[in-house]
Amino acid sequence: MIERINFPIPYPTLVTCPFCIKGCVACSDGAIEIDHKEAWAQIQRPHVIKFLADNIETVSRELANLFNCNPTINTRNNIHKEDGKWTLLEMTTSEGSVWIAVPIEKRKPEYFYSESEMNRWLV
Ligand SMILES: [Zn+2]
Repeated sequence: MIERINFPIPYPTLVTCPFCIKGCVACSDGAIEIDHKEAWAQIQRPHVIKFLADNIETVSRELANLFNCNPTINTRNNIHKEDGKWTLLEMTTSEGSVWIAVPIEKRKPEYFYSESEMNRWLV
């Protein structure tokens, strides 16, 4: 069974009258107004996930603004390679992670957009 998530419906809202038959006494025009805060709609979780995936940039920006969810930057480790010493940083955002190898000597840093790409560089 697909998990469902409850969301409050906007109110007041008009819904198609579920009782409508000839001479309906529940409504006058085929619609019923719901005007209270306790009305909820069940949304299938995959639809919620799809919405988040399709709108990740906007969602990420709003999360940062509303909940102060800023990227985290951690020092992963310091490494010695044949060409010198490097500090490996991991930057994580709600959209994913990037890894940056910063050389101790004056050279350009290396950027990795996947962990496997970084691991290949480490070998
Ligand atoms: Zn009706």
